[in-house]
Amino acid sequence: MRLGIRGYHYVKTAYEDGQVIFTIRQKREDLRCAACGSGRVIRRGFEVRRFRGLPIGSRPVQIVLEVARVGCADCHTVRQVPIDFADPRRSYSHPFERYVLELSQCMTIQDVAAHLHVGWDVVKDI
Ligand SMILES: [Zn+2]
Repeated sequence: MRLGIRGYHYVKTAYEDGQVIFTIRQKREDLRCAACGSGRVIRRGFEVRRFRGLPIGSRPVQIVLEVARVGCADCHTVRQVPIDFADPRRSYSHPFERYVLELSQCMTIQDVAAHLHVGWDVVKDI
């Protein structure tokens, strides 16, 4: 799969309004505490999040992931697990970010935004 994302498991592909939606998930044993890195964690729910992935041709790609919230047996914090392929505060993946940076070397912000079907502000932000 051409997602540029390792350590997650592919679940399914769906097509929605011309977009490709990949659902991925993290294995239970890969969950760890965002505060101390401990693997001794207990699931305490999740939040479904979507991230921009690398487009396939001209088709935008979204990556859907249930980001688990876990309670840590070692440091006793309850937090969302870290995300390996994206900044937790952002709605796009690192591969998407790198692609935008590459395109920006030869295209204007407006052209990059139009090409990737994202807002001008997203490109500017990257
Ligand atoms: Zn911890």
